[in-house]
Amino acid sequence: MLNVPSQSFPAPSSQQRVASGGRSKVPLKQGRSLMDWIRLTESGKDLTGLKGKLIDVTEEELKKHNKKDDCWICIRGYVYNVSPYMEYHPGGEDTLMSAAGSDGTDLFNQIHPWVNYESMLKVCLVGRMAVKPTVSKDYREEKKVLNGMLPKSQVTDILAKEGPSSPSYDWFQTESLVTIVIYTKQKDINLDSVIVDHQDDSFRAETIIKDYSYLIHLGLSHEIQEDFSVRVVENVGKIEIVLKKKENTFWKCLGHSLENHNSFIPKKDAGLYYRRCRLISKEDVTHDTKLFCLMLPPSTHLQVPIGQHVYLKLTITGTEIVKPYTPVFDSLLSEFQEPVLCNSKYIYFLIKIYPAGLFTPELDHLQIGDYISISSPEGNFKKSQIEELEDLFLLAAGTGFTPMVKILNYALTNIPSLRKVKLMFFNKTEDDIIWRSQVEKLTFKDKRFDIEFILSAPTSEWNGKRGYISPALLSEFLKRSSDKSKVLICICGPTPFTEQGIRLLHDLNFSKDEIHSFTA
Ligand code: FAD
Ligand code: NAD
Repeated sequence: MLNVPSQSFPAPSSQQRVASGGRSKVPLKQGRSLMDWIRLTESGKDLTGLKGKLIDVTEEELKKHNKKDDCWICIRGYVYNVSPYMEYHPGGEDTLMSAAGSDGTDLFNQIHPWVNYESMLKVCLVGRMAVKPTVSKDYREEKKVLNGMLPKSQVTDILAKEGPSSPSYDWFQTESLVTIVIYTKQKDINLDSVIVDHQDDSFRAETIIKDYSYLIHLGLSHEIQEDFSVRVVENVGKIEIVLKKKENTFWKCLGHSLENHNSFIPKKDAGLYYRRCRLISKEDVTHDTKLFCLMLPPSTHLQVPIGQHVYLKLTITGTEIVKPYTPVFDSLLSEFQEPVLCNSKYIYFLIKIYPAGLFTPELDHLQIGDYISISSPEGNFKKSQIEELEDLFLLAAGTGFTPMVKILNYALTNIPSLRKVKLMFFNKTEDDIIWRSQVEKLTFKDKRFDIEFILSAPTSEWNGKRGYISPALLSEFLKRSSDKSKVLICICGPTPFTEQGIRLLHDLNFSKDEIHSFTA
């Protein structure tokens, strides 16, 4: 909702009409772009009508503010007067009005859980809910469970209906070390599954188990050293975080609970956590695309799973703006070895700079050594989708190549059943092709891999394929290695490209399970 540019922008024909879970956007009036909203919020105008006061809002009061020119919405316990924002909302007034005078948390979580509405709507904040707002019955029961208000037996019963059973944790110590052990009760756990951050006085370990998030969140009772190690005992689903004590004293307790400690909730309700990363390098890849290398803080353990993205956050004219980006490796070839580097402190991004864009010019202006916040990973691609695969087809357009980098790597190094990997790389011109020589070299290095470049605006010298994605191109390229081969087609690029591609793939009788599209 909140950080998508306005009507003239992106232009109707622009590639940047990014699908965000398929939701529709409405044309906005002139002067109602995101930048216009930021300017209004900076103007000092009283947008709540409360002259800067914050109030406790009762359910009865909230219900009264249900009209377009007087519209209050509760999101995660905070109430906002969104009337001034109506005309700036790219999702349209109707979407906001559907939550008028009520709790819009569920609606918000469904549509854009990652948007930083606190920053975007800070000047519209009316106050907190005096009592908990009404939410759906299932959600309420689940929350009660997690807050320990139901007996233990019911905890398992209710969660079991929807997801995995709740993990638990324990800790022990030696003279110099403290080990926190998380029992996930799941076998398919690996180093991607746990994210650990120790910042200021807060220690967080978030474990992702299927679509749920288990959080350990503590103020540790004693100081620890900056670096720690994380180990996973895969077949028993045990995670061990080994902390080094700063002083070799005996700890009577591990620490005190912080917000949501020991909670096990659907990941979509958990919110995204950000840590500040340092810009290490920035290299030109094409005329407009750069490879950015960011370094995680020493006291963070974070590995972005293949096929997933993170959000980068910058403060632009006083407002926090976030945009999604998909980490890659530092090159296509250097990582073609097993095992893929684990526990790396570096995260790489291939990012196209749009001169008229909101975020990327700011990103481009960062100097080496500057900081930028990176969120925890998100995305619904699962490694299991490529297990036992025989044919893998990757349809990438422009920077839609980014999720393909790790998938290609993983498939070629870890999937013994794989017979054929084909990348169809759609670009405007030859100059736009990211890592062209590396991609070409890979075809020599691995005989299973093949590439076709398709250009939509080539020069007259181009001898290769031309045009946009089309039935003819797809039926020529997408040849299974055998009639019943297990196949996956990954598709990523500008929204019209992806949407059209999916339609054409269905027409070619590929099933839903055989197609994975990347969107926000
Ligand atoms: P925007 O402000 O969104 O502008 C986009 C376009 O609109 C540009 O072409 C700009 O020139 C044009 N425009 C701006 N102002 C106007 C105007 N007034 N009138 C007309 N046109 C205008 N991108 C990557 O490069 N690498 C990645 O790895 C990557 N991963 C992604 C992962 C996901 C899940 C998603 C959904 C997107 C990803 N993107 C990635 C795209 C990225 O999130 C941004 O959309 C992109 O960087 C553009 O951001 P921006 O704010 O700079 O541009
Ligand atoms: P671009 O403008 O350079 O276009 C690349 C190619 O896409 C074109 O050559 C053409 O073949 C195809 N294309 C463009 N518009 C089309 C249309 N209307 N119909 C059919 N095909 C079309 O692309 P770009 O500027 O690099 O943009 C890449 C897009 O990929 C962005 O929108 C970005 O948000 C998206 N992206 C998404 C993810 C993700 O969802 N995980 C990751 C990375 C990039």
